[in-house]
Amino acid sequence: MPVSERLHLLILGGTSEARALAGEAVARLGQRLRVTTSLAGRTRDFARPAGELRRGGFGGAEGLAVYLREARVDLVVDATHPFAARVSASAQAACRSLHVPLLGLSRPPWQRRAGDRWIEVPDADAAALAVGRLGCRAFLTIGRGALASFARAEQVHFLIRLVEPAETPPPLRSFEMIFGRGPFTEENERLIMTRHRIDVLVAKASGGASTEAKLAAARHMSIPVILLRRPKKNTDESVARVEDALAWVERKLDASLET
Ligand code: NAP
Repeated sequence: MPVSERLHLLILGGTSEARALAGEAVARLGQRLRVTTSLAGRTRDFARPAGELRRGGFGGAEGLAVYLREARVDLVVDATHPFAARVSASAQAACRSLHVPLLGLSRPPWQRRAGDRWIEVPDADAAALAVGRLGCRAFLTIGRGALASFARAEQVHFLIRLVEPAETPPPLRSFEMIFGRGPFTEENERLIMTRHRIDVLVAKASGGASTEAKLAAARHMSIPVILLRRPKKNTDESVARVEDALAWVERKLDASLET
């Protein structure tokens, strides 16, 4: 098929699922499909996905609509992190306005198990209110976005884990930073929590295998977990597995040949 006739798939990325989908789509459908992954571009050290890559924000829903038109995008898979709500809302609005098919690809949430001491809260502010009641040495694994919320928990010492150093230090009275990118092992998580005398864990309800080990470690150490609930994403159609997203893309490709 001539390159100009291939359909163009845009994957909104930043997750392992997005990278896996780009790899599978290029390998299995690359003859019929042009694949571009978009990243927010905040981390310096990232794994390059298969296919084409663009980085940086679009400028909201309107900017994304301009991009979709100019880059002649035929299909969009929103495979962003379950907590990346703004870019998903933009995708929803832009795709609707241009009648571009949109699929959400979002990993299933974690399931509570016997022994878990989870306290679910709606957001970082609520987590910050709860943390001092549950412990005095907190392991904070929520990324860098909402660290300022925890400034009010003045009596708590925070161990903050980020993927890479932040440009500005968080406005917290007492903290240490460690750096690391999943997948993490339970053994490693237990070691960290023991070494730092952690008595409460704060995490996002992200789901996925890569960061689940900290929950198993907390369960076995009987440490309470403040779990931030996922924001709502209103994508009309969504799947939880990469293979189902690939099947959706393939169906759209087949349908385009029939028209
Ligand atoms: P967000 O709050 O939904 O997005 C903030 C802004 O960043 C968006 O409005 C958009 O800017 C830009 N953006 C986000 N994702 C983009 C993408 N894939 N391509 C181009 N622009 C993007 O998202 P976030 O929570 O800051 O997450 C940013 C990225 O990190 C996402 O790609 C996400 O998948 C990944 N990530 C997030 C988390 C998390 O916990 N939030 C964890 C792991 C990975 P414009 O409005 O200018 O278009």
